[in-house]
Formats: sequence, C-alpha cells, structure tokens
Amino acid sequence: MQRPHKAYPVELAQFHSADYVEFLHRITPDTQHLFRQELTKYNLGEDCPVFENLFEFCQIYAGGTIDAARRLNNQLCDIAINWAGGLHHAKKCEASGFCYINDLVLGILELLKYHARVLYIDIDVHHGDGVEEAFYFTDRYNLTKYFILVTYPDVKVMTVSFHKFGDLFFPGTGDVKEIGEREGKFYAINVPLKDGIDDTSFTRLFKTIISKVVETYAPGAIVLQCGADSLAGDRLGCFNLSIDGHAECVRFVKKFNLPLLVTGGGGYTKENVARCWTVETGILLDTELPNEIPENEYIKYFAPECSLRIPNGHIENLNSKSYLSTIKMQVLENLRSIQHAPSVQMQEFIILWLLIAVIYEFQVPPDFYIPEFDEDEQNPDERMDQHTQDKQIQRDDEFYEGDNDNDHMDVG
Ligand SMILES: [Zn+2]
Repeated sequence: MQRPHKAYPVELAQFHSADYVEFLHRITPDTQHLFRQELTKYNLGEDCPVFENLFEFCQIYAGGTIDAARRLNNQLCDIAINWAGGLHHAKKCEASGFCYINDLVLGILELLKYHARVLYIDIDVHHGDGVEEAFYFTDRYNLTKYFILVTYPDVKVMTVSFHKFGDLFFPGTGDVKEIGEREGKFYAINVPLKDGIDDTSFTRLFKTIISKVVETYAPGAIVLQCGADSLAGDRLGCFNLSIDGHAECVRFVKKFNLPLLVTGGGGYTKENVARCWTVETGILLDTELPNEIPENEYIKYFAPECSLRIPNGHIENLNSKSYLSTIKMQVLENLRSIQHAPSVQMQEFIILWLLIAVIYEFQVPPDFYIPEFDEDEQNPDERMDQHTQDKQIQRDDEFYEGDNDNDHMDVG
C-alpha cells in the first residue's frame, strides 16, 4: 500500500485548462452563488455539485493515479491500483457526470513519458468519453504542453470503451462509428451495447476485441478502468454482469503481463462495488479469497448472505447474437486499417524528450515523492497510526444506506 501525494494544480493543468483548475481550487459551497456564470461555463452544479473540500478530493484521487503511473514507469511495481480513480467523464475545461479532474488522462500522460503506445480499456457501463476526447485526434491538439508528442508522431493512445449506448443513456456518445479523427483515426474503439448483456456474451466479446487490439497495437502499458456500474443490480446501470464476469475481464488483461494501471470508476450499489473491487484486488494479487466476508464493522451492509459473490441479473438481454456479431465485425474491420508503425526506440525517445524539456523549459513537473523504498517494509505500527488518524477524520455520514442517500446526482 502506498500513500500517494496530493496532485499539485500544475500537475492537474497538464491536461485541464489552467483557468478551470484555478476555479476548482477557489470555489466553495459558500461562495458559489457569486459565480453563476463560471458555474455554467465549467458545468458545475447539478450532476457535478460544489462541495466542501472538492479540490482536495480531486488532488487525492488524481495524485493516486499519477503516482500509480510513476511507480509503473520506475518499475517499482508491475500492477498499480487506485480504486479512488477512474473519473472518466471529466473534460479539459469542464466537469461532467460527477467527474471533475480526469485522473485517467493524467495517468496516461505520465505513462507516455516511458511508453510510446498506451492502451486504455474501460468497462464502466458509461462511455469513457473524457478519455476518448482527450486523445481523439491523438496528435495533441488539446494537449499543447506535450508538443513533444506532435514532434514524435508514433506516440499514440488507443482508447477502447465497452458501454451501454442508446435510449439517451448518459453521456450519449460512444457509437461504433466514433473511431477517432486525423492522426487518431482508428485509435478510438467503441463497443456500444444494449440492456441486459450477460457474462457469456460480454466476456466473449471483450476477449475477442482486446486480444486483437493488443496483437495489432502492441501497447507498452495498459490502463484499465473498472467501473462497477456495469454489474447486475446497479442503481444506474442496466447490464446483467456478475462479479465473476466483470472480474474475468480484469483477469484477462492481467495475463498480457504488461505494466498495468487499474482504477475504479462508477458504481452505485455500494456494497456490490466493494465486493467487486475486493474480488478484483484478489485476482490482481494472485490471492484466492474466501466467498464469505469476514466479520468487520461494515458487515451489516453485506447481510444477509455476507458473501462476496452476487447473483446474475434478470434484465432481458437485448443484445442479439447478430447485433453483437455486427459490432464485433465493425471493430475488427477498423482495427485492420491500422498500419502498425515500427516500434519507437524508447531510449531515443527519452533523450529527445529531455532535450526538448531543457531547450523549452518544458513545464512537466518532476516525479514528486517516488520513495526509494517499499512502504510495506515500514514499521507496521507506524502505518497503523496513520490509519487511526484517517479514521478520526472520517465523516460520520460517509457510510449510509437506503433511500436517504445523498448521491442521487451521480451519473459517472
Ligand atoms: Zn459509470
């Protein structure tokens, strides 16, 4: 376990516009009535409310994903997990779907310093629109500080999103026809699905497409967004996936043995989110977990079965075999259009990057707080102290249940 640093505003501004970051920093629930125009401009309020310590919340989850990427870059680990991250809807200049800062884009930008090709995979029930948009042209028109990437065109990001599409489902994008543009053409892959997809159809489609993507694109690192709102019984989702079905995708991606950054994402039946990410942590750590949840202070949320697994859903599966086959064929056809460029010599890439950094006083912050030791080797009593401290600042109303939930605005 690592305690990540809180991301600095300058780090958040590697993707987001400086004025948006500054506004997030400045705004509070008490002052928001003075900034009606800005709230509209940055899409704050409604789905993306201003709450106490909003900016610190963003700094914490974004810092987690950035540090995860840096630890992978420094080969301090093979797999890095940040369940607090995965806020895939946030845009360069605005919040969206309960996402304020797009930690995934920031993590991918870190990985691009060491890997010429980064693959982004998203299994949240919602389209990963913010990440797709950031790399839609993949020639960095909206990532001006990373002009190195313009000068080195082989550096690319491929985004692949599996999600519910149609019936005005949020955010409304993610048609199979959205494939990227200009230099990014064929580097955005969308797998639009209908209500009720089950484990068998989903995992089969996922494995077929992802195998072909990895074979064709040969990524140097993978970012996997594991939104748990694609599970059966989610309050906002509409799929029939069991935790084993969802986790099978994680197991499959792990098998490629590439540097892997795993994040959370959406998930609105909270006890199932906890179950899902626990099972997936076990898979990523090669640790078998018993199905029975051990006694703990939150056990009442898992009653009466107190088991890790949940039953499959019973929503009618509207994804016919012919529909899924058509989608698969279209995606594979687009993949065939990719002319695979010869691989970049990474040493050459890093030297060039450093040279430009020096010449232009390139504003990429250094890697902050990468410890040279593994915190697991620290005195466990000290870690316990930190944990106790955290518990003391936990809000009493953080764990709630039933209809009094105040998270009705979330759609991420
Ligand atoms: Zn979602």
